[in-house]
Amino acid sequence: MHELGIVYEVIKIVDQFAKDNNLATVDKIVLEIGQLSQAIPRFIEECYPAAVNKTAYEETKLEIVVLPANAKCKICNEVYNIIEHRKICPKCQGKEYNLISGQEFNIKEVVAC
Ligand SMILES: [Zn+2]
Repeated sequence: MHELGIVYEVIKIVDQFAKDNNLATVDKIVLEIGQLSQAIPRFIEECYPAAVNKTAYEETKLEIVVLPANAKCKICNEVYNIIEHRKICPKCQGKEYNLISGQEFNIKEVVAC
């Protein structure tokens, strides 16, 4: 399961950020994950407790914001979710689109007490 590796990577980045900003404790980490990202939010959440166990982040909460896989139709400019609509424009049935969001994996926020 590669999510555990991702969680360790996130903790490493947050840890560096905390040191750089002299944060004694981190209250909450907010991740932004696109629906098309390789990282699956549910697995990230499941891995998290094990990854932070007995570390300075044991009490740190994890919040995941899922960004929709939205695309804009090349024909009629309709914006729609390509997962919900199986990559077919609900307005004109067109199959060509430009992806707007959905591939993100960001550490959106590090909240300190
Ligand atoms: Zn369309």
